[in-house]
Amino acid sequence: MAIATVNPATGKPEMIIEPHTPTEVEMRIAEASQAVRALRETTLEQRAEWMHAAATIIEDQAAGLGELITVEMGKPIAQSVAEAQKCVKAMRFYAEYSAEFLADAPIEDPARVGASRAWTRYEPLGVVLAVMPWNYPLWQVIRFAAPALMAGNAALLKHASNVPQSALFLDTLFERAGFPHGAFRTLLIGGAEVGRVIADPRVAAVTLTGSEPAGRSVAAIAGDQLKKVVLELGGSDPFLVMPSADVAAAAEVAVRARTSNNGQSCIAGKRFIVHAEVYDEFADAFARRMSELRVGDPLDPATEVGPLATETGREDLVALVEDARSKGATILTGGVVPERPGWFYAPTVIADLPDAARLIQEEAFGPVATLYRAADREDALRIANQTPFGLSSAVWTNDPAEEAYFLAGLEAGAVFINGMTVSYQELPFGGIKRSGFGRELAAVGQREFCNLKTVWRA
Ligand code: NAP
Repeated sequence: MAIATVNPATGKPEMIIEPHTPTEVEMRIAEASQAVRALRETTLEQRAEWMHAAATIIEDQAAGLGELITVEMGKPIAQSVAEAQKCVKAMRFYAEYSAEFLADAPIEDPARVGASRAWTRYEPLGVVLAVMPWNYPLWQVIRFAAPALMAGNAALLKHASNVPQSALFLDTLFERAGFPHGAFRTLLIGGAEVGRVIADPRVAAVTLTGSEPAGRSVAAIAGDQLKKVVLELGGSDPFLVMPSADVAAAAEVAVRARTSNNGQSCIAGKRFIVHAEVYDEFADAFARRMSELRVGDPLDPATEVGPLATETGREDLVALVEDARSKGATILTGGVVPERPGWFYAPTVIADLPDAARLIQEEAFGPVATLYRAADREDALRIANQTPFGLSSAVWTNDPAEEAYFLAGLEAGAVFINGMTVSYQELPFGGIKRSGFGRELAAVGQREFCNLKTVWRA
């Protein structure tokens, strides 16, 4: 794939960027490796100061960065600016809390292990490679980079090929804020070259956020090299609505859950599983509101849903919907490609999916919702758990017994009750099953790329 910005709202190329040569890649890996040594001479306080400075750079440029994000991947401008601001919060969070998250922890009662003192400490692993997707071009990177750099690691970024301008902004951000040269560098390379970087002895670990095939390939190479890997992959999150819930509120939030980021979020509610008693009420409100969404130019502040980020992304989505339609599913709204330039797709709600429909098992990465009528809570849980994914989930209920039932039964990395899944730097984030392994964010995400060193003293 060419490394290029192609505006999804017009389909027109805006900027084509030459990939890095093997010599340039080698130089950047070497610089990152040297930066690990330089970072060892720094204190957490110093790194926190630089992290705050990097946050300020983003804060000051949030409007321009928002525009860049929208031009590169098509999300509505207000959401792009909000993404930049969210990065600022996460950077300040890790600047403030890393000392606490990485503090030495004494082992209680050291005499039990024959020691006068025993404790654990967190140390950086070294150079970490991050392979990142385009759907949140800044946020996905920052939520890895802020904790990793604060812990004293250096980072190399292989960003998605369709967001090179975001990748280049990030390339210089941390050095501009004061971090040592090489502490964070972008590699402008294709997916096929990632294996060589993982295998490089100077690279200690890798994290990937993206699709299942990419995850499988990166995990295989990392496994072969016996290197630590964290994977944040796809999801087809269930959004369950029970009769005790505020159904109107659930329908309203469901629209946002499914269409935020033009429907291209791993943690979007994608499958709406509704108890038969309230199914019609929910389906009517949800489909009506989805049909009313304002689809259009993502730079127009009134737009609620912009285009898909790539042409192939739209083709994949169209294929999933047409597969369901051809097998007898009911399209309640949408299911059409609007007649306009760019890679738009109408917000869509599909009901009565036959078991053979691909959407039963596969992730729809765009504004396409599937509706399921559940006979009872057992049926709702069965449908919720029937995909190979296990990223997050949402349950709408005001019945404590029902809440406990779903909390225990849902196969997912998170459960949001009476709300939609959102990532917060304070909350651990990640999945089970084929949604990946390892966690990002909070303390646990920072510790993924640390050596937990046990110290025993006689
Ligand atoms: P993708 O094709 O897997 O791309 C993600 C990144 O992996 C890009 O940098 C891509 O580079 C690279 N890549 C692709 N194939 C590779 C390979 N064989 N080896 C090494 N690197 C490779 O993902 P996408 O389709 O653009 O993004 C959507 C997917 O990401 C969805 O499934 C979504 O659910 C998931 N996602 C998950 C999370 C999460 O936190 N769990 C968050 C966001 C998105 P190129 O661009 O150069 O191909």
